[in-house]
Amino acid sequence: MKILDLFRPSKIVCVGRNYPKHAAELGNEMPAEPLLFLKPPSAIVRDGQAIVRPPESSHVEHEAEIGVVIGRRCRSVPESRALEAVAGYCALNDVTARDLQRRDNQWSRAKGFDTFCPLGAFQPADGVDWREMEVTCRVDGELRQRGHARDMAFGIPFLVHYISRIMTLEPGDIIATGTPDGVGPLEAGAEVAVEVVGLSVVRNPVRDA
Ligand code: MG
Repeated sequence: MKILDLFRPSKIVCVGRNYPKHAAELGNEMPAEPLLFLKPPSAIVRDGQAIVRPPESSHVEHEAEIGVVIGRRCRSVPESRALEAVAGYCALNDVTARDLQRRDNQWSRAKGFDTFCPLGAFQPADGVDWREMEVTCRVDGELRQRGHARDMAFGIPFLVHYISRIMTLEPGDIIATGTPDGVGPLEAGAEVAVEVVGLSVVRNPVRDA
């Protein structure tokens, strides 16, 4: 049984601008500390389910990310022990209504529509070196994004530490660790695939509401 079939996360904690090349492509400075926001669990869809472009937006984009799945309740976990709280990883697409993100002062709407959080299958962390993970995005088979976890400004142990100082992390909670450069539009009729290479993949058709 896969853990993501068992758990509905209490929250999905997302990190913005965690890869310098992606911050640059959107014209943003790198933050001095992790830039956090939340996606609602109601946004989750699984492999094969559609991403629905809402009528409120005319510019929906993919963001391929490595999802970190929390395995135990933790609060203020030190960075040196942070990986003990990680159960595993999954492919995650932080689907974003880019026009609404630019219009709104905060991103609950732009990031929070139903279907805006495709998740791939759970991959246990055992034997996985987080620095070696690679994430890709393909749209209709064409490579759009490729990034390596070692290029994150804030690595996975630091993120677990940092976030757990702010909010208690519960088993099944997910951290979306930011997207590398190459984000781009999702048109109706396309199929988008986000893969944590060799570990987890999520493929979703895109349609209009
Ligand atoms: Mg993102």
